[in-house]
Amino acid sequence: MPEQIFEYAPAPESRAVVSLRSCYEPYIDGEFAPAKSGEYLTTVNPADEEPLAEVAVSGEADVDRAVAAARRAFDTVWSAMPGAERGKYLFRIARILQERSRELAVLETLDNGKPVKETRDSDLPLAAAHFFYHAGWADKLPYAGLGPEPRPLGVAAQVIPWNFPLLMLAWKIAPALATGNTVVLKPAETTPLSAMLFAEICQEAELPRGVVNIVPGAGETGRALVGHPGADKVAFTGSTEVGREIARAVAGTGKRLTLELGGKGANIVYDDAALDQAVEGIVTGIFFNQGHVCCAGSRLLVQESIAEELLPRLKARIERLRLGDPLDKNTDIGAINSAAQLGRIRDLAGTGTEEGATAWSPACELPERGYWFPPTVFTGVSQAHRIAREEIFGPVLSVLTFRTPDEAVTKANNTPYGLSAGVWTEKGSRMLWTAERLRAGVVWSNTFNKLDPASPFGGYKESGYGREGGRHGLEAYLG
Ligand code: NAP
Ligand code: MG
Repeated sequence: MPEQIFEYAPAPESRAVVSLRSCYEPYIDGEFAPAKSGEYLTTVNPADEEPLAEVAVSGEADVDRAVAAARRAFDTVWSAMPGAERGKYLFRIARILQERSRELAVLETLDNGKPVKETRDSDLPLAAAHFFYHAGWADKLPYAGLGPEPRPLGVAAQVIPWNFPLLMLAWKIAPALATGNTVVLKPAETTPLSAMLFAEICQEAELPRGVVNIVPGAGETGRALVGHPGADKVAFTGSTEVGREIARAVAGTGKRLTLELGGKGANIVYDDAALDQAVEGIVTGIFFNQGHVCCAGSRLLVQESIAEELLPRLKARIERLRLGDPLDKNTDIGAINSAAQLGRIRDLAGTGTEEGATAWSPACELPERGYWFPPTVFTGVSQAHRIAREEIFGPVLSVLTFRTPDEAVTKANNTPYGLSAGVWTEKGSRMLWTAERLRAGVVWSNTFNKLDPASPFGGYKESGYGREGGRHGLEAYLG
């Protein structure tokens, strides 16, 4: 029987649910006040390069005011408030995120380029879940196993990347507030808008002024924030390179530090795995969010005996992925977040071919405007190749093979990173044997990229230190 392929009619989500201001100022002490720096940047939609809004570049004076506001709020209101009262604010924020989830999902898609299917079904529900989860902890901290009277640290300086703008904000702000800390947060340069809308949500929730402050800007703003002597705690998510710089800047200052950095996750498929299920997991592992995922399964390790069977199935599945307008509800793969990131992906993927690996992509038309990269699979990859060692942070999968479980584990661990891994097998004993030996903060079994606020997340080695989420994540904000 000939294979049936369905035609899809366009199903774009309406932009009309989002009303953007033309210009966003830093949110400090409960108000949007003109940046002292007087500098602005333009954030664009990476799917068509159209400007979305002007956003202030917060300078040292702005960061200074934000830290001072956070300190005042900590001393006068927030740290002394009973946990049950703090919890009410977190519940309120969580509910507003749910109420405004469609608006936020469309906004996140516009600013980031990721498919609305993902912002709607993943980023938004998870962001709200983080606030709900931590709201529940706010009045139970003495029972968290961290001592009878755990104390907040003070002002938390938080810097986040562009790949999950609102979700990373939730990972940072929810635990900080639940534990009684106040916050100054810098969103990424290319994706500040959902953080600016979150500032409006803080106003709507009547959160006491100064408890949350948002200072948009670029790398320099981040540097000023993490280096500010008034910060008691630094929490950073981003590249290993910037993480190293921050670790040096914070060393010896007495500030507490957590770092969530890069990854090069291995996805191990044993010969007894349910292959169609594994194919779905491989696709989710590397093509979810265009592969802009620190815990992406960017290295596929397939047992040699099934490689010939698995790869055609994987390619057939990838041929069905729909790349294009991120606002279309049928789109699987959206735009690359920025011209700079597209350049990095092209350069690294280029080394794959130069070093002798074979690239494959499905036939797919890339839109003319915007930043796009087709889903790509490299075979004939050796461990020495740069595409097997370095984080590409894009929709590019490197396929390697192994013969024995020992070899699988050795190859999986042969990386400076240690954030995530996946194991596909029907055998429980093999699963546990493998998981025990993998040096990765998260190991998924017969699934991939599953995140939950109750489950701690973080890395080994150059993937950083400290955990976010779960009971373990509270520890990073309590003294
Ligand atoms: P990045 O360059 O390290 O940027 C991360 C954030 O730090 C951005 O807000 C950035 O501002 C800011 N920043 C840049 N230079 C700084 C400095 N010297 N001091 C303080 N802040 C500074 O990383 P990215 O390219 O945006 O994100 C991709 C990387 O993040 C990948 O390596 C990925 O693996 C990692 N990541 C890790 C996790 C995790 O949970 N482990 C999650 C997501 C992403 P600008 O936006 O202006 O550059
Ligand atoms: Mg943008």
